[in-house]
Amino acid sequence: MAQDSPLVFDVIVIGCGPAGGAAAVTAARAGLKTALIDKARFPRQKLCGGLFTGRARSYYQEIFGENPPPETMIEKSSVSFWQAETDLGTLTNVPPLYLTMRWDLDYGLYRHATAAGVADFTGSRIAALDLKKKEVVLPNGQHLGFRVLIGADGVNSAVARQIFGSAFDHARIGFGLEIEAPASPPDAPVRIDFGAAHWGYGWAFPKAQSTTIGVGGLLAANADMKAAMGDYLQKLGQDCPESAYKGHFIPFGDFRKTPGQGAVLLAGDAAGLVDPITGEGIAFAMKSGQLAALAAAQSLASGDPDKALTAYRDALRPLHRSLRWATRLRPLLFHPRLERHFRSAFQNSQNMKHAYMELMAGERDYPELVWTLLKRLPHAYRRGLFRR
Ligand SMILES: Cc1cc2nc3c(=O)[nH]c(=O)nc-3n(C[C@H](O)[C@H](O)[C@H](O)COP(=O)(O)OP(=O)(O)OC[C@H]3O[C@@H](n4cnc5c(N)ncnc54)[C@H](O)[C@@H]3O)c2cc1C
Repeated sequence: MAQDSPLVFDVIVIGCGPAGGAAAVTAARAGLKTALIDKARFPRQKLCGGLFTGRARSYYQEIFGENPPPETMIEKSSVSFWQAETDLGTLTNVPPLYLTMRWDLDYGLYRHATAAGVADFTGSRIAALDLKKKEVVLPNGQHLGFRVLIGADGVNSAVARQIFGSAFDHARIGFGLEIEAPASPPDAPVRIDFGAAHWGYGWAFPKAQSTTIGVGGLLAANADMKAAMGDYLQKLGQDCPESAYKGHFIPFGDFRKTPGQGAVLLAGDAAGLVDPITGEGIAFAMKSGQLAALAAAQSLASGDPDKALTAYRDALRPLHRSLRWATRLRPLLFHPRLERHFRSAFQNSQNMKHAYMELMAGERDYPELVWTLLKRLPHAYRRGLFRR
């Protein structure tokens, strides 16, 4: 259906993952005429460990006004840490972590968005994007105009490609492989294996119907991620053909300092907002989606939607600061020369394990943690860091 004068929205959100779901709900609740486009129809699958931290939960409450439906989450309060064959210890009674399937989580976000009154264009790719004319064209020829566009279309973002020429930098991107293995016993802890991949880790997340097992790390440091996955599965006693591995890029420590252009904002993975140490992305996707929508509302209220990026960058500053600190700290955990030091420091220090858990719970942030951590590190470990 070709069309001359487009239907114009205050805000168009592309992508209904955690970033787009949060953006669409926030924009619609702010009274903005909002459209939501996603190439998928919901529910849909998205490759992800589905670890939903305390931070993610509190953002979810703040943005959607309620907790995620309990039937979509499994609560865990014990975590075991490993490095290669070494058991680094198990923490019990940690602040709760939640495990979910993205099939359920994202479907819930989609339903929140439609309930908030967004115009639903899910099940439709974008055929063309004209940032100058401020128009999105759908495959059926329909033109949708926008005043502000929020690109929440994930790590391969078409919106980021349009602005910057590429969605991410291959030299800095992360990559993860996962399988769904049979369910574990109900008391199985969340399991993290440092060193299962270079500059990354392995995970086994026990859920209601399955155990999500994966490895992930910097792509450039892992020439053969499938071999790393095979070794990890063997270690966990899992028999699974390579053909069942599923892979996806993770923007692991490569966030965009300029997350958009004028009235076009990038949120979530499209803006590279994943923690470079823990790999957590869901919480930051939701938060950035919310902040992008608030920046859109602010710029529209001022009558200058092209100022949206300025407002958004200001709002993102604390998150950017935190991710910058995490990137600086990352060699402490992942540099091959420090591995031995890290293993003994982590194994012997309850403080380090608790610090890690406090990060996951969103109770502490990198800037406030960095000096505490450095002070508590054994001398040899610190020497190793500075000799690098
Ligand atoms: C293997 C792996 C494990 C992970 N484990 C965890 C974890 O345990 N916990 C955690 O917090 N984070 C984890 N992450 C990171 C997390 O998955 C992401 O950070 C998060 O999904 C980002 O959300 P988003 O909304 O930005 O993007 P996405 O969730 O990727 O959503 C993007 C949406 O955009 C749509 N889209 C894409 N292109 C187009 C287009 N051209 N037109 C229309 N629609 C489009 C897609 O269909 C999709 O619905 C993991 C990532 C990987 C790869």
